[in-house]
Amino acid sequence: MAEQWIYLNGQFVTKEQATVSVYDHGFLYGDGIFEGIRIYNGNIFKCKAHLNRLYDSAKSIMLEIPLTYEEMEQALVETLRRNEMRDGYIRLIVSRGAGNLGLDPNRCEKASVIIIVEQLAIYSEEAYKNGLKAVSVSTRRNIPDALNPKIKSLNYLNNILVKIQSNLAGAGEAIMLNAQGYVTEGSGDNIFIVKNGVITTPPCYLGALEGITRQAIIEICEKKGLKLKEEPFTLHDVYVADEVFLTGTAAEVIAVREVDGRIIGGGSAGPVTLELLEDFRSIVDQDGLKVW
Ligand code: PMP
Repeated sequence: MAEQWIYLNGQFVTKEQATVSVYDHGFLYGDGIFEGIRIYNGNIFKCKAHLNRLYDSAKSIMLEIPLTYEEMEQALVETLRRNEMRDGYIRLIVSRGAGNLGLDPNRCEKASVIIIVEQLAIYSEEAYKNGLKAVSVSTRRNIPDALNPKIKSLNYLNNILVKIQSNLAGAGEAIMLNAQGYVTEGSGDNIFIVKNGVITTPPCYLGALEGITRQAIIEICEKKGLKLKEEPFTLHDVYVADEVFLTGTAAEVIAVREVDGRIIGGGSAGPVTLELLEDFRSIVDQDGLKVW
């Protein structure tokens, strides 16, 4: 197998050489931000949207990224070229960098920038047809006043606790509610429900990441003239929906067939979900930054 090259602070190093300091506050405190991006047939899908979200997250947590937007774009392109990657997953990480054991970020001299590209282990085509089993969990989504879920931070403990709960329940995904009991998102995906032909997704202010796949689906729905609403809803609405699906960079558009023991619709991916998955897959190699 060809060598995997990792971008680490301006250098290309092997996986074995790709190490950061144990004093990096990304490691000590989860202090940093990241993006998960995909390249489809040589096209970095929605590259601009991902970099905008990265730079917005950085601004929000007052993290200075040591690369300009253009330099970051170039670093992504070079990493993909080095790895001869046409189709795969890109993980872009900016951590606060090495400081001391105190949590004060002023002690960290320079942010670390890491880009890892890998083949993606995605769900089987079978899973896209059958859908996932999901459970709601008792752990609530971080409230926006504490750590705004719109920031794609390295601090994923909230999501990890939720994943542990869904693993224990033998489910493939979790549904997270906010402190008021409204549905927000999955542990790593946004959520949509379909009822009587109307597609609804929770507004992100309730406590969800502004997912780029979510936005792409909203735009597809608008273009096709499908009825779409961004409105709060509860677990009851999920249980009685005709279809439920999740969206995310890795998962794309995947159906949920069962939630807390309630079978959703016909118990497999419904027609709206499958149509949107097809529409989504038809744009992924066009809308973005061409590398090859
Ligand atoms: N919510 C959370 C918590 C996530 O981690 C992700 C994955 N990045 C998403 C939603 C989906 O976002 P996107 O479509 O931008 O991948």
